[in-house]
Amino acid sequence: MRRSGAAGTYDVRNMGTPRAAVAAVLFIAVSVAGCGSGPERGSGGPPGSPSPTGTATRITPTPAPSPTATLPARFSSEIERIDAATRKRMRPSYRPGCPVPLSELRYLRMTYWGFDDEPHTGEMVVAGDVAEDVVTVFRRLYDARYPIRRMELVDEYEGSDFESIEANNTSAFNCRRAEGSTNWSNHAAGRAIDINPCQNPYVYADGHISHPQCRRYVDRDRESPGMVHGGDVVDRAFRSIGWEWGGRWSGARDYQHFSENGR
Ligand SMILES: [Zn+2]
Repeated sequence: MRRSGAAGTYDVRNMGTPRAAVAAVLFIAVSVAGCGSGPERGSGGPPGSPSPTGTATRITPTPAPSPTATLPARFSSEIERIDAATRKRMRPSYRPGCPVPLSELRYLRMTYWGFDDEPHTGEMVVAGDVAEDVVTVFRRLYDARYPIRRMELVDEYEGSDFESIEANNTSAFNCRRAEGSTNWSNHAAGRAIDINPCQNPYVYADGHISHPQCRRYVDRDRESPGMVHGGDVVDRAFRSIGWEWGGRWSGARDYQHFSENGR
């Protein structure tokens, strides 16, 4: 179980490389199709502009696209203080009495890999002193092509954890109590992140979950894109910054949940 490097390799091989290969094949197919159908992007004038006469008839061998030509945008990230506009947006998730002041939180903008095999830009709020570490994690997930459904502030769901999960949203900060407790959740300090909560449900000790459309993912022997398994790239990325996985809890298990202190 702990010796699980193979599981990580499995995930990378089965999520990343074949899709990259498919993307490469598609790219080549499009390039070939494009040869006879007008100027390609980057070949000169704007798309749709007429070719200069005399140059369109000459056929020159097109070099095979280099592998780098098919790579999508590199991972990028920004870490910002909570400015007035973000503060306003965060009204649903931040309230007086929260365990940390807004000045100790940071707004992140990060690339993530989507289930549509395309890069997207997500946003997240975490504690300032873990922000760099969190970016490191998501860079690793992006490089491994681990797919994420969406990455928005819970404020897009009026601060509702339930609605955010319904939307399969990956998120961090939310000033709320822990599930089934009067204590603050680690999310209230920006020190916990939930990853693809549908594929990685919170499973109560009796086996039930709150989002029935995600029931098939209670079976953790499944190997579906977006799931987290012990020893896979997600687990290893968080472990590399010292965070622990709720999938290892006894009793109720929170397969979407990673936190700095393991709770
Ligand atoms: Zn959580």
